[in-house]
Amino acid sequence: MSDHENVKFDSKCVHAGVGDYQFGPVVPPIYQTSTFKFESTQQGAALFKGEEKGYIYTRMSNPTVEAMENSVAALEGGYKALGCASGMAAIHTAFAALLNGGDHVVCSKSVYGPTSTLLATVLSKFLIDTTFVNPSDLSNIENAMTDRTTVVYIETPGNPTLETTDLEGAAKIAHEHGAMLVVDNTFMSPALQRPFEFGADVVVHSMTKFLNGHADVVGGIIVVKDEELYPIFRTTLNQIGGVIDPFNSFLVHRGIKTLSLRMEKSSENAVKIAEYLEAHPKVEWVRYPGLKSFPQYEVAQKQHDLPGGMISFELKGGHDAGEVLMNSVKLCTLAVSLGGVETLIQHPASMTHLSMGKEARESAGITDGLVRLSVGIENVDDLIADLEQALEKV
Ligand SMILES: *Cc1c(COP(=O)(O)O)cnc(C)c1O
Repeated sequence: MSDHENVKFDSKCVHAGVGDYQFGPVVPPIYQTSTFKFESTQQGAALFKGEEKGYIYTRMSNPTVEAMENSVAALEGGYKALGCASGMAAIHTAFAALLNGGDHVVCSKSVYGPTSTLLATVLSKFLIDTTFVNPSDLSNIENAMTDRTTVVYIETPGNPTLETTDLEGAAKIAHEHGAMLVVDNTFMSPALQRPFEFGADVVVHSMTKFLNGHADVVGGIIVVKDEELYPIFRTTLNQIGGVIDPFNSFLVHRGIKTLSLRMEKSSENAVKIAEYLEAHPKVEWVRYPGLKSFPQYEVAQKQHDLPGGMISFELKGGHDAGEVLMNSVKLCTLAVSLGGVETLIQHPASMTHLSMGKEARESAGITDGLVRLSVGIENVDDLIADLEQALEKV
């Protein structure tokens, strides 16, 4: 990997994390083993003490997992990464590493549904309380900070409203109060946004989405910027145990090789689809970071290399019209999740964000009529023709 540290992003996608292995394979082998043989009791003891480098047990580390972790750490520009069993395992582990009972979290309102539910239900049992704010106005973050705030948690663009937060401003506020900025970068992937460049301390991802990109893995990752911060995350993950396995790591690492290509194509498609929807008489509004009408267009231009593959919109007939559209598409697939090569369409209020409850949804701007589109890499003319025939039925 050291040979590839100074290459450009798309070259890193192909090469980062790939080490040297027995027999010289070009791709990291799948070390499908739970444990590793010691040469002697002395060597086993030295490995446990950390005096010797090597592998002990796959929950602690595994060469296939480590290769994938090193790849994501290089893409985000962080020190090291920790592969987790899912995005939620990564988010839970990150909170568990950083928080003590009695601490306070400031979290953006528009986040992945289970993230807000985790804070509001599971973590609140451990006396961690959270203030949910609209972070597109930074003064809302500032006003929510208390002397107990240790984590500011931002997902940008937020799911599913695409509300975008100025990360540089959020990092400044967090650091002035002695708190850490944790950013969920799932929607953009490091190909389009690298939160460490704007002052974030920790980045989390659902690798289930764009990083893997092929809708065949559930996985997550935590990337840590500083060397000093890393051990507490590794210890916490090792105790909680929500690690990713070697085979899924292999698949994610393979998916990452085409990350740049996929993000470019899905952005290019999404720009055309967002413009098509915005001009359509049956569409009430479209939110897409690449449209001039996007409320945080300036921030999006500053933070994103391209506008990404996620679009949210609402039809003039609201919920009922959206339902007809979603039941009429043929090429687009009606399914939750996002970030794969195939275009997916879904209804957050009754699906991904149901667990939040109506009141929290409304306050986050997730209307009952909001439809979320994750644009894939199909031919854009086919996608628009599919939306067109479905819109005709509305
Ligand atoms: C899907 C998702 C998650 C959760 O990831 P899982 O892999 O499903 O556990 C977290 N954040 C965002 C933004 C997501 O889209």
